[in-house]
This record gives sequence, structure tokens and C-alpha cells, in this order.
Amino acid sequence: MLKLFCPDIYIENIYKLDLQYIKRKNIKGILIDLDNTLLPWDSVYIEDRLMGWINQCQEEGISLCIISNNKYGRIKHCAEQLGIPAVFGSFKPFKKVFKRGLDILGTQAEQTAVLGDQIFTDILGAKRMGLFAILVKPINDQEFYWTKIMRKLENLLLKIMESKKLISLNR
Ligand SMILES: [Mg+2]
Repeated sequence: MLKLFCPDIYIENIYKLDLQYIKRKNIKGILIDLDNTLLPWDSVYIEDRLMGWINQCQEEGISLCIISNNKYGRIKHCAEQLGIPAVFGSFKPFKKVFKRGLDILGTQAEQTAVLGDQIFTDILGAKRMGLFAILVKPINDQEFYWTKIMRKLENLLLKIMESKKLISLNR
């Protein structure tokens, strides 16, 4: 049961992701969350550093696709600005959004990772689909009211998984 919530890697932020390690795992595509993973919640300002990271992924042959539970207009705007595709009209952790993402990336499940900041959407969805799951710390603590409530439960789960040595934060 716990393994459905347990990420394969837990990192401080996207810039800490070791792309060579990912490539050695034969991962060719990443389904990536938007809010508090790529951008602060509800922000549309895109730092040069973020564009640099996206370019670096693409140069390494890793395709990206956004999967987000935020509003259509916001996802579309950000995806266009970032120059990467996005899945619309379905929600994490339901399988449909991940299946659509795999279609867009053109990758098999075992070649695909999910990168996100929430256990009950990003990680649970990844694990249900047999995808490699990468958890990042949220960029900041501004988010939906509902997400803030879920964070309390997430933090408890993280503590349990850490105490069982199932995860450790790679800083
Ligand atoms: Mg998020």
C-alpha cells in the first residue's frame, strides 16, 4: 500500500535532477507537473534558468509534457510559453491523464517518468501506471486551500517513509 505513495527519487527541486542517471534508467520522457514544480503556484513568470533546464532536457533527448490539474487557460498559456505540450481535460491521479501524456510523448510506461510535488496526485498517479516517480519539494507554500490541507497528510506520509528508509531527500 505504502509503495503506491513512495517516489523512486525525492529531490529538492527540478535542477537537482540528474539527467544522466535518468538516461541510464532508459527514461526518454517526463510528464511534468506545473504548479510548485516548474513554476510557483499561479505564477506565469518564466525564469531564464527554467528555459535553460527545459532546453537541456531536450538536448539530452528527454521529451517533456505538462500534466496539471490547474485551469485550461493557465496550462495552455504556460505550455506555450515553455514550448512544451500539455494534456488537457483530465485530472491526476486518474490514469487517463497519464495515458494521454504517454501518447503525446510517444514513450512506453517503462521509459517514462513523472515529476511533481504532490504525493496524492503526481506520485500516486505515476505508481498506478508503473511509471518512474520523482517527487520534488514544492517551490513555495502558496497553493490552493485544498492542497494545503492535503500537505499535512503528505508530510505525515513522508515522515513515515523516511523513518522506514523508503525515501531520502537527495539535496
Ligand atoms: Mg504541483
